[in-house]
Amino acid sequence: TVARSAKETMRLPPLPTIRDILCLYRLRALRQLSQNFLLDQRLTDKIVKAAGNIRNGEVCEVGPGPGGITRSILNRGPSKLFVIEKDKRFLPALDLLVESSDQRMQVFLGDVLSFDMSKIFSENKRREWEDRPPRIHIIGNLPFSVSTPLIIHWLQAMSERKSAWSYGRTRLTLTFQKEVGERMVADIMSNQRCRLSVMCQNWCTVEHKFIIPGKAFVPKPEVDVSVVHFTPLVQPQIPLPFKLVEKVVSNIFGFRQKYSIRGAETLFPVPVRQQLGKEMYQLADIDPTTRPFQLTVEEFGRLCHAYCTICDRDPRLYKYSHRAAREQREIFDNLYEEEQDLMEG
Ligand code: SAM
Repeated sequence: TVARSAKETMRLPPLPTIRDILCLYRLRALRQLSQNFLLDQRLTDKIVKAAGNIRNGEVCEVGPGPGGITRSILNRGPSKLFVIEKDKRFLPALDLLVESSDQRMQVFLGDVLSFDMSKIFSENKRREWEDRPPRIHIIGNLPFSVSTPLIIHWLQAMSERKSAWSYGRTRLTLTFQKEVGERMVADIMSNQRCRLSVMCQNWCTVEHKFIIPGKAFVPKPEVDVSVVHFTPLVQPQIPLPFKLVEKVVSNIFGFRQKYSIRGAETLFPVPVRQQLGKEMYQLADIDPTTRPFQLTVEEFGRLCHAYCTICDRDPRLYKYSHRAAREQREIFDNLYEEEQDLMEG
């Protein structure tokens, strides 16, 4: 007998195609769950290649479905692969891969939105945050309704070094609706520049890898798909708590086409809005007529710091939200109205 090389043992044995698996287990894509499968191995290989070198590393795949991307991952030789799938109909197809993968693969049935990855990878994979990223990768093609809230959730976990980011600067390779992927990398002055661009670019180096045409999926979604790669930054451009940055950035983008100070004013109760908005822009040394899409991440940082300076003087302001229920806003508005009256004598 001829000994098989390490590289060969890492490759999967011949298996039925994903199309056969879908027929065999009667796996119809559920439209209400926005399931679209990738059956073309050249494309699944290309997604996995976009993650970088995963050989002997550990990978977590989110939403594997019938296992197209999963096979491409296993063929590139990670030492371990964890998959998190919500729909139990895919378990037999995934179990087939577990059996063929030399015990390298483990399946978790669950919702990725509430899944804590802080214990699943090997202890010897941990790195200091400032080191090179750990040999851990997250890869996934999820429904768009899940992937966009999930990346916001994960940016927060990253900022707090929780879950997969307790192991260091774990990288991500994920798919999004094309327009969303383009927004994530959009630079200032671009039409696509939005809250998501600033939030992603504040915590990560974001690379738009390539576009997969919608027709490559079964069933075909209405839109094309972007493959996006994220590497967490050693130091975020705005080193402030996630929720605070999110609040300032989303208020300022509240009126996209207006002067950015209009959105910033909504951070404050109505009676003191104009005065504190003006002070915030003066402290940050930013022209109030700048439009939100013209502001760099660094300028957003100056605005966030100026907002903190104002709120530290009167910490009640941190709690104000113009998106809160009307009664709650009115409590603030009346309070500041009365204080203004008192000051004016
Ligand atoms: N990755 C497979 C592919 O590319 O062919 C399937 C893609 S399909 C668009 C999305 C997969 O994610 C489905 O298998 C679906 O059941 C799963 N999924 C959806 N929401 C999920 C969640 N919250 N947690 C875990 N898996 C989820």
